[in-house]
Amino acid sequence: TPALSRPDFQLPRSHEAFVKASRVIPGGVNSPARAFGAVGGEPPFMARAEGAYLYDIDDHKYIDYIGSWGPMIVGHAHPEVRKAVVEALELGSSFGAPTVREIEIAEAVVAASPSIEKVRFVSSGTEAAMSAVRVARGVTGRDKIVKMAGCYHGHIDALLIQAGSAATTLGTPNSPGVTKGAAADTLLCPFNDAQAVAAILEANKGQVAAVLLEPVAGNMGLVPPKPGYLESLRELTEKHGTLLIFDEVMTGFRLSYGGAQERFGITPDLTALGKIIGGGLPAAAYGASSRIMDQVSPVGPIYQAGTLSGNPLAMAAGLSTLKLLREPSFYDRLEARSARLAEGLEKAAHDARVPHIVQRVGSMLTLFFHDGPVHDYEDAKRSDVALFGRFFWEMLARGVYLPCSQFEAAFVSAAHTEADVDHTIAAARESLAAIAG
Ligand code: PLP
Repeated sequence: TPALSRPDFQLPRSHEAFVKASRVIPGGVNSPARAFGAVGGEPPFMARAEGAYLYDIDDHKYIDYIGSWGPMIVGHAHPEVRKAVVEALELGSSFGAPTVREIEIAEAVVAASPSIEKVRFVSSGTEAAMSAVRVARGVTGRDKIVKMAGCYHGHIDALLIQAGSAATTLGTPNSPGVTKGAAADTLLCPFNDAQAVAAILEANKGQVAAVLLEPVAGNMGLVPPKPGYLESLRELTEKHGTLLIFDEVMTGFRLSYGGAQERFGITPDLTALGKIIGGGLPAAAYGASSRIMDQVSPVGPIYQAGTLSGNPLAMAAGLSTLKLLREPSFYDRLEARSARLAEGLEKAAHDARVPHIVQRVGSMLTLFFHDGPVHDYEDAKRSDVALFGRFFWEMLARGVYLPCSQFEAAFVSAAHTEADVDHTIAAARESLAAIAG
């Protein structure tokens, strides 16, 4: 049996599936975060999902705070989204030719995002970030990229770079297979440190194509930008003729309809979008001013393409999701629900006397087992990950499906009811009591 910290919580069918899957799929999963490496044990295999709930093949029901790692903001299998996808499917699943629906969703993205006049659809967040970087390099004629330690932009070679201990260290590849060459043009800074960016831009004058970051970091747990940080990056990049790229794959359409750029009032030069924009199907996008985007093929010389880009099913799922987000007070309700959860977790952790801080922006949040604020990756890494692992399994056994790592943000959806949130807080109280002693 799997080595769980809750041996009484059994997943026999999932265990059997995991053993079988591991024979034919590396680690039994098609994306590493799903393998529960950070918390130990084996993952439940899911059978279906509806609203705020996931159901595994052992007939457990979970309140889901992963939401497919971000996309499911209106909840799983929303009737409107299902209808749109089924209707699209009946007309054919892929044409490799332009469709009218692509205009509609592109117009919606342009209307939503202050910085976007034109947008190109791709199939994953990785592709969106990769393409944004290529465009920034193509437009500026410069090679170097500044990236923040702890920010994730997909598994692109040049961005899969480990944090060095010093702010100015050159990138060292984070994975075998990433060449030193691919890493050499990636410069690293700590998140929330504008001075480090200023120093790097000064030391590499005229060579940095773009400063790239998640405006609100969600891939080291939830880490908000300090007041003034994004403003400073906007000023610094302008001063150096460097483009500012916001990776809003997680935050786009989540922190507000116009993403973090709308919420914080900062206009980047390029934006990467993903997750919500595909409504649970594979779609992502990158966009910018017409001046920048008209450098992209076939208008301009910067090449970028995709067989399934703008796929009709994904566009239908995305469009119907965006429409639901435009319902009056959608984000106010989501904010209130998320605030209730954050406050409840904070109180529960306080009463259990474990080292903790709950960090939240909108419907993204993390309970860090860390004393005091987490401002960057180094802070995040000082969290008690063993305690987190035990908390995770206690919660899972009580029917709450949290991100399976301290370094991932939880997502609240519009399908989570007040009762779901209160159940989650009650489960957290019990779980924290169980692990605190
Ligand atoms: N950028 C950010 C901020 C992300 O959170 C992710 C995925 O989690 C990506 C890019 C990569 O997206 P995908 O997994 O769709 O390739």
